[in-house]
Amino acid sequence: MRYLEPHAHMVSRTTDDYTAMALAGCQAICEPAFWAGFDRSSARGFYDYFCQLTDHEPKRAAKFGLPHYCWLCINPKEAEDVKLAEEVIALIPQFLEKPNVLGIGEIGLNKNTRNELMVLEKHVDLAARYNQLILVHTPHLEDKLKGTRLILDVLKNDRRIRPERVIIDHVEEHTIDLVLDAGFWAGMTLYPESKCSVPRAVDMVEEHAKGRLWMNSACDWGVSDPLAVPKAILEMKRRGHSAASIDRMVFQNPARFLSQCPKFKTPV
Ligand SMILES: [Zn+2]
Repeated sequence: MRYLEPHAHMVSRTTDDYTAMALAGCQAICEPAFWAGFDRSSARGFYDYFCQLTDHEPKRAAKFGLPHYCWLCINPKEAEDVKLAEEVIALIPQFLEKPNVLGIGEIGLNKNTRNELMVLEKHVDLAARYNQLILVHTPHLEDKLKGTRLILDVLKNDRRIRPERVIIDHVEEHTIDLVLDAGFWAGMTLYPESKCSVPRAVDMVEEHAKGRLWMNSACDWGVSDPLAVPKAILEMKRRGHSAASIDRMVFQNPARFLSQCPKFKTPV
């Protein structure tokens, strides 16, 4: 079956992963900017990373027949250093015209600190000024509910932001309704160890009638699974979901959100 991988950190993955995803039916990949697993020492490190996301990685993906898109930001984990964050945010506008850039992300919170909140507001302002889509990372485990509330407050307080142009990722059972009820899109991240397992995600799909919802693997340099979405397809099949309903969840829904950026071309 065809599917879109709307959240994958391919700079950390091998060519075998690209092959496996293409064979499994992947039609396009979107890569948000994120933490490298270590703190970059200066804004120049981010400049090089943005070049990698907008220039090198699309060429690598193309070798496997896969369109590659990306999102740009300084991730919440490195946002504690506000001066560095300001320098990085100042670099972003020159990349926004690149043909594969879909918006600002994955922004959000990690430990819910004041500095992280300040940098989140700066990113939201940047997205509003340049009319960009937004992809949001929510914190893990015990910080998730509080962090999700804080993030939604920041987004709702900025009147320029339209909720249907924002996806809040890594939702779980205790945050999905907050997000959907406020008019935002919700992303479920399928992770082998933390975040959300495949059966839990499919439970949430069944409870939320498949609207404004997508699934992703968020595969990166850690223990993660680039084939998590096709595994969710298998689980939906096993539970008796129709091919049309699975296609809506794993292909049409992400395409509907992403197409709000005219640069995203729905694969045919
Ligand atoms: Zn991510």
